[in-house]
Amino acid sequence: MQLSFPDSNDPAQKAEKRSAELRSLIGHHNQRYYQLDAPEISDAEYDALFRELLELEEQYPGLVTPESPTRRIGGAPLEKFRAVKHRLPMLSLDNAANEDEIRSKLDVRVKKLLGVGGDETVGYMCEPKMDGLAVELVYENGTLTGASTRGDGYTGEDVTANIRTLRCLPLTLNGTGIPALLEVRGEVYLPLDAFRKINRDKEENGEPPFANPRNAAAGSLRQLDPRITARRPLAIFCYAPGQVEGASFASQSDFLAAAAGWGLPVNPLVRAAAGIEEAVAYYREMQARRDSLPYEIDGTVVKVDSYLLQRELGEKSRSPVWAVACKFPPRQAETVLEDILLSVGRTGVITPVAQLRPVDLSGVTVARATLHNWDELAAKDIRIGDTVIVERAGDVIPAVVRVREELRNGSEKSMAPPQKCPQCGSEVVRIADEVALRCMGLSCPPQIRESIKHFASRTAMDIEGLGDRFVEQLLALGLVHNVADLYALTKDDFMAFERMGDKLASNLLAAIEASKSRELYRFIFALGIRHVGERTAKALAQAFGSLDNLKKATLEELTSIRDIGTTVAQSIRTFFDNEENLAIIGRMLASGVTPTATAKKVGGKLTGKSFVFTGTLTRFSREHAGKLVEDQGGSVVGSVSKKTGYLVAGTEAGSKLEKARQLGITVLDEEEFLNLLETSR
Ligand SMILES: [Zn+2]
Repeated sequence: MQLSFPDSNDPAQKAEKRSAELRSLIGHHNQRYYQLDAPEISDAEYDALFRELLELEEQYPGLVTPESPTRRIGGAPLEKFRAVKHRLPMLSLDNAANEDEIRSKLDVRVKKLLGVGGDETVGYMCEPKMDGLAVELVYENGTLTGASTRGDGYTGEDVTANIRTLRCLPLTLNGTGIPALLEVRGEVYLPLDAFRKINRDKEENGEPPFANPRNAAAGSLRQLDPRITARRPLAIFCYAPGQVEGASFASQSDFLAAAAGWGLPVNPLVRAAAGIEEAVAYYREMQARRDSLPYEIDGTVVKVDSYLLQRELGEKSRSPVWAVACKFPPRQAETVLEDILLSVGRTGVITPVAQLRPVDLSGVTVARATLHNWDELAAKDIRIGDTVIVERAGDVIPAVVRVREELRNGSEKSMAPPQKCPQCGSEVVRIADEVALRCMGLSCPPQIRESIKHFASRTAMDIEGLGDRFVEQLLALGLVHNVADLYALTKDDFMAFERMGDKLASNLLAAIEASKSRELYRFIFALGIRHVGERTAKALAQAFGSLDNLKKATLEELTSIRDIGTTVAQSIRTFFDNEENLAIIGRMLASGVTPTATAKKVGGKLTGKSFVFTGTLTRFSREHAGKLVEDQGGSVVGSVSKKTGYLVAGTEAGSKLEKARQLGITVLDEEEFLNLLETSR
């Protein structure tokens, strides 16, 4: 009898060990990604793991287990959202990594299964592959009644309240032939400019930034508080039907045309392809256009256009045979991290920045990369002198993805978070609940510089011509120590500048003068109060009408405003409770700065009318109702006063309803409110 001993060189045994390892790795990264919104590896690295497991399972079919991540589609839903079962499973697509694979994994298989000759062509539909979050929308008789995330493909999370906040999505469909039931699949994404802004705000506020636009979209959509979702300008493109009753479509192109006709957002870049070579050309074209799009795409999707043929082709274990996701190569490069620089922001946040040996990253030379914050630096164990992998998403600032630890030679140096501000030497503090380190110096030069630049910027006080160069000179000459000093400048002060002419000096002075009568919201925004962005500044200006009222506002009054939570309210209160801030504002007002109350939207029939909502609303969300009111020139306020125009009362309305009745204010139920909107249009 022959005994067989375990042999570590046996390829089957090695494959078994590796596949078990891969399954557990992928499971771990799925959880980081889908449930925690905190991935540890890049998408390209995740794809590589997944692909390796798929290949092993194809080679050794005996290794496939029912729990293998290749048999599932994603993560299980979080417990905190209600679970929703999809009527039809939301399958994921097979991936193609290059042009050859688009041909072999789609066209060759499709023709073989359909018995079509090699020189004949199959009609395809090509779509950009949005790098976002898949959702399913449910329209019943043309009204949006539900929305859920993909989840594991069979069960997702109920995100109806959040989806309703997407401005680009109709709550009711328009046009003719609207089916009794229409399930539509779409990809929710965050446009790149919004992504950058959110991350800037997050870094300023000392919160960890999102790793990429997709995480930002997922994090924004899966918020238990829809008010947070509403503040994020999420968008969606619809791409496929789910279950449909009362309408039928002959093809994907037919469906997309119908969806667009009913008012659903469909990507204008979708295109029919007569044969696989046109689909390959489309893939090439989209890859070339990738950097100029206002959103992130990570490939294209090619589908057999005819639904009849799609049904004939059917599905394999985890994905349809009639479609393939054509992935773009990752935008990664390897280089050496030469130094870690410290950058001090407007609110004193000290951020580590990687200085890199310049490297080409798909056509762009990259010499700096963000390291986000000190926690991340420590978690990734990034050291000066390390060889690192840098990744760029869209035209977003490149980030260091990971370190090639195996290339270390011992000379690499870790960097500890600074104890003192590198610019002013003040104490550095880590505020509770924040990941950021902050310089607390009141006269920290970069903070002053950035706050003056912010004050003068186009979206704030719009002081034309007072750009970065002049702000730097004003500071260097000691002419300005805070924003109030701007209004004390004379022509002679400017004439002291290098390369300054008489005309330019007069223009600058005139621009400063002109800024004295900016709208109130611009002034509020320009003050640089933490957590108060342009949008919040507008809400404050509209709600309080004057700087005096805002200065006196209580926390309760502040939080009664739509979109303002306790953190923001507290930050506003802290700002106006600071004597130094009040002194600076006082000096500006004394110099003749007179912020004018925000001009309300004119033309709407509700102009000048204020609304208070109370009780439980069942016909619409407060967010949505607020938008409708504002669209017609009205405003929404938090508490009832003599000046309130209407009180809209849902069920279980309490003290506000009583107070409105006492003051003789018109009270509307939901039906009457909708009627008012109709007639005031
Ligand atoms: Zn400092």
